[in-house]
Amino acid sequence: MIVSSPLQWTIQMSTSRGTCCIAGGGPAGMMLGYLLARAGIEVLVLEKHADFLRDFRGDTVHPSTLEVMYELGVLERFLKRPHQESRRARARIGGEEIVLGDMANLRTQCRFMALMPQWDFLDFLAEQGRRYPTFHLRMQTEVVGLIEEQGRIVGIQGDTPAGPVEVRADLVVGADGRSSVVRDRSGLTVEEVGAPMDVLWMRLSKRAGDPDLIVYSDHGRALVLLDRGSYWQCGFSVPKGTAEEMLAKAIEEFRAGIVQLAPFLLERVSELRDWKDVKLLTVRVDRLRQWYRPGLVCIGDAAHAMSPVGGVGINLAIQDAVAAANILAEPLRKGNVSTRDLAKIQRRREFPTRITQRVQALIRQQVGGIIDVSGPRRLPWALRLLERTTVPRRMRTRFIGVGIRPEHVKTPDISSDLHIRPHEMVSKNPLYR
Ligand SMILES: Cc1cc2nc3c(=O)[nH]c(=O)nc-3n(C[C@H](O)[C@H](O)[C@H](O)COP(=O)(O)OP(=O)(O)OC[C@H]3O[C@@H](n4cnc5c(N)ncnc54)[C@H](O)[C@@H]3O)c2cc1C
Repeated sequence: MIVSSPLQWTIQMSTSRGTCCIAGGGPAGMMLGYLLARAGIEVLVLEKHADFLRDFRGDTVHPSTLEVMYELGVLERFLKRPHQESRRARARIGGEEIVLGDMANLRTQCRFMALMPQWDFLDFLAEQGRRYPTFHLRMQTEVVGLIEEQGRIVGIQGDTPAGPVEVRADLVVGADGRSSVVRDRSGLTVEEVGAPMDVLWMRLSKRAGDPDLIVYSDHGRALVLLDRGSYWQCGFSVPKGTAEEMLAKAIEEFRAGIVQLAPFLLERVSELRDWKDVKLLTVRVDRLRQWYRPGLVCIGDAAHAMSPVGGVGINLAIQDAVAAANILAEPLRKGNVSTRDLAKIQRRREFPTRITQRVQALIRQQVGGIIDVSGPRRLPWALRLLERTTVPRRMRTRFIGVGIRPEHVKTPDISSDLHIRPHEMVSKNPLYR
């Protein structure tokens, strides 16, 4: 990895094997960085923020991600971090209650969804990555451009508080999220899928005896309540284009909208003192037509921004990272990543992405209450009949909890292969001589 900068970072130089520079230390970037370092690849993750602290991000860690943690041998350690476990999800649509999903029937190590603040999740991945000497993470480093030579991306340009930097690597990965600078600068084409809603996120306190429903939907609006122990993480979905109008009005009207859907919150909506207590997530659903160019590939939200339905965004980002590491570890180790290798990542992950985006749209139509904005919502009779069986809930549970084409970790753990501990790798691993 060649890093040129006035800072003179002390990054081990290597010319004998491949190097990877990842833009963005979110779930996709951190997991890929960890997996590649674990496989003995020199990897540098660049994150623009000084820390991982962000409110209301993807905090829903599904069984598919927990399965990856299990395969990595770190599940037990991971679950020691503070989290809540959610097994059964029920919704009230109009006047009717349905079971959205029940993880008890899944054939996974964990039959629950873990709710963990994303900063804890990322912190955990960073901690695991740092066990390997080839893992490098640089915070406060914003990728602002790409270095291109003879039609191939050969590195990135970054900004740091101490000045500009250039990083050259065999492969650049764009994992910098839904507003990806990498995908923008690379000229890759984005296809908008369209999202008919936006979401307003907030917290309201939780009390003993509160109903355990997760979705309330009626009158063209939906309220999602995620149990975060001492409080509810609330997402209020509104039809696209109406949020700005709502934010311009007094907050009382918004509070009344919440109470209309979930009357038990009547005495608590005053905890929203003003609009500063509410965060708008402008929902975008899109995907890249082609995820790669010579020397560069995008994964996670940078390749496909997902709808918030089902909280699959973080989990899909992890699946992309696992697939990318499985495909890239060997060519990176040999220092000959080809465009064909990068195309394999898209071939592997594009199908689950497309299907997931389509099914999210279907679920939203069924339970989101977005279609009928004029009055109370009722489930169509055919759907009501079907809901009396376990078929829809089993299908939804599998789709949300495990996903389409679940990935499995195939990359080696170089330290355990050699029966040495990560910190001893530099001296004992033949790759490092
Ligand atoms: C308000 C909100 C609520 C959400 N709720 C949920 C949920 O409940 N469940 C769920 O599954 N998903 C949720 N999502 C989506 C979920 O957060 C994403 O799908 C998931 O985090 C994608 O992971 P990623 O690594 O691809 O991208 P991101 O998580 O967006 O990570 C990208 C990282 O790159 C960094 N970055 C960006 N630009 C640059 C740059 N130029 N240089 C260097 N670093 C850069 C960012 O700071 C960030 O750390 C939510 C998203 C938002 C915005």
